[in-house]
Amino acid sequence: MKNCFICRKHNGIEATPPGEYIYEDDHWMVCHAPAKLGPLGTLFIESKRHFLDYAEMTDDESASLGNVMRKIYHALKLHTDAERVYQVTLMDGVPHFHSWLVPHRKKDSEKGMKFLARDDSCRDEDASALAENLREAMR
Ligand SMILES: [Zn+2]
Repeated sequence: MKNCFICRKHNGIEATPPGEYIYEDDHWMVCHAPAKLGPLGTLFIESKRHFLDYAEMTDDESASLGNVMRKIYHALKLHTDAERVYQVTLMDGVPHFHSWLVPHRKKDSEKGMKFLARDDSCRDEDASALAENLREAMR
């Protein structure tokens, strides 16, 4: 859709994510979030097709999502010291299916919603370097 931020991003009209897209298949695209939006390793999984949420997924989309998530969790645990991967799916900002995947590390003092509510960020060059490693791990 012309006015959708995520569709525009997929079409190269918006800024490319740090380290560019990490993973792409028939239905899904995965990238690191902009460095100012979260801790190192914060990823977005985005549907290729423009739709709002699980209720609007095709059978193929819903069947393949778990497999991609498995790869993402594996890659994040391999390349960050994530103890948990938080998954947040809101679609309040952009009405195009996407989830935030946020690594939670043992050293993080806050947990749960308090952790997610922190004003956290990382460095662009670190996000780009990590994207490279995650791309390799998701192959
Ligand atoms: Zn869209």
